[in-house]
Amino acid sequence: MTLADVLGEIRRRPGTSDIIPIFDPSLGKQIGEFADGGAAAIDAAVARARATFESGLWHGKTSSERSRILWRVAELIEQRVDELAEIDARNGGMVLSQARNLMFASAEFFRYCAGWCTKINGIAHDVRMAGGITGAYAEIHGYTLKQPIGVAGLIFPWNGPFHNAAIKLAPALTAGCSCVVKPAEETPLSVLVLEKILLEAGVPEGVVNVVVGYGHTTGAALAAHPDVDKVAFTGSTAVGKKIVQAASGNLKKVMLELGGKSPVLIYDDADLPKAIQSAAMGIFIHSGQGCICGSRVFVQRRVYEQVVEGIAQIARTLPQGGSHEQNVVIGPLISQKQLDRVTGYLEEGKREGVEVVAGGKRRARPGYFVEPTVLTRVRPEMRLMQEEIFGPVVGVVPFDDDGEVLAEANDSVYGLAATAWTRDVGRAHRLAKRLKAGMITLNCQMVWDPALPIGGHKQSGWGREYGLDGIEAYMETKSVYTQLV
Ligand code: NAD
Repeated sequence: MTLADVLGEIRRRPGTSDIIPIFDPSLGKQIGEFADGGAAAIDAAVARARATFESGLWHGKTSSERSRILWRVAELIEQRVDELAEIDARNGGMVLSQARNLMFASAEFFRYCAGWCTKINGIAHDVRMAGGITGAYAEIHGYTLKQPIGVAGLIFPWNGPFHNAAIKLAPALTAGCSCVVKPAEETPLSVLVLEKILLEAGVPEGVVNVVVGYGHTTGAALAAHPDVDKVAFTGSTAVGKKIVQAASGNLKKVMLELGGKSPVLIYDDADLPKAIQSAAMGIFIHSGQGCICGSRVFVQRRVYEQVVEGIAQIARTLPQGGSHEQNVVIGPLISQKQLDRVTGYLEEGKREGVEVVAGGKRRARPGYFVEPTVLTRVRPEMRLMQEEIFGPVVGVVPFDDDGEVLAEANDSVYGLAATAWTRDVGRAHRLAKRLKAGMITLNCQMVWDPALPIGGHKQSGWGREYGLDGIEAYMETKSVYTQLV
């Protein structure tokens, strides 16, 4: 489907009278609109998902058949990489080459999960007990069953819309769940194409149901729905807390992938050219709109000036432009709201005395562009060092020793990712133990693999995505005891 096809398709979706505009953030121009699905659309989608789940239409297939279908999804994604990347680039403002990379990563994610379909098993346990309530000897065959949790509600943001959908749908379908999917209101388009790809690959109709709409209406209805067994949410910590409250009605299981304020530690023995390049791209990529972006960089004092200048030099020269332009490396922010938010933090920082070494303001051009920005003379208590900005803004701070930098790096309500650059292997692994984050990268940054779980410590989330943990998150474990008579 082309962008025009999917814009036509979404316009025909039924919903409430609330109309939601769709923008091209590179131009700051509206390109389409759609109706907010609302509670009625969620009710209908949950009913469809429930019916398919109870009939076993999907989880009742052989695991080999489900595996083949999910593998086919990967193939179809790869066949359509260009059209999918074009949609996410235009709708989400991601640079085209990066949108393509994320499409391949999404296909790979489906392949990884497809492989697990035939390998998920419980355990067997030989129970020999003398005791229990009767005290009698018993010989019992015990085992566990791994079963799909039921109907899963999947809610996620706009920063890589197709990929965000893929990393939730692939494990949920591998587990055997039926799903209701609520993409971000800013970027619903590519997710509608994924819905069609799933059908084409052989996922039965009604197993995956995409409902488009606002978070406070459609998303809230899904999170609160009494017939949904699990909600998997990626987004801000503030909305994550609302999801927890909404889910309490039927105590549905909750998985949360939330915000971050990830620290990057650069020691004076590090491979500095690599560390500087990675620290710069680790915050400026996708204009800082990545949950694991390293927005606080701590540099050992001896090399502080060199690192600040290195990152600033990259910030000043990084080609930034719209998703329709050639040879750009970073694009715009997603929306006017996000632009106001990021520039608000910058203005506040300037009032509080930070030094702007590079960037520091909106670009004078159409679209929602903020210059890649390097700030020094930042203090730990400042809002821009404590809160997630979700823009191309990094604060750089000097440190002298391990104790000092660990205390500062861990001084955050978040704990999503952390990076350390040092040639001292012992120190690197000690830091990995002591940094309070769910994902540690040593002498590398912004890397991830479908097999390794991702998730947050502290207020960065509950539970894990990716890996077997991420699939089991959509399953229940049942223990079965059979007395051998
Ligand atoms: P957001 O929390 O405002 O919205 C995320 C999703 O939740 C959207 O689909 C939105 O419509 C929906 N939503 C909003 N209010 C809702 C409600 N009351 N009930 C149910 N759903 C609701 O997040 P955002 O600002 O659009 O996205 C950026 C945030 O996402 C950042 O905080 C970022 O760190 C986070 N994020 C985290 C990860 C991760 O893996 N930890 C990955 C990507 C993004």
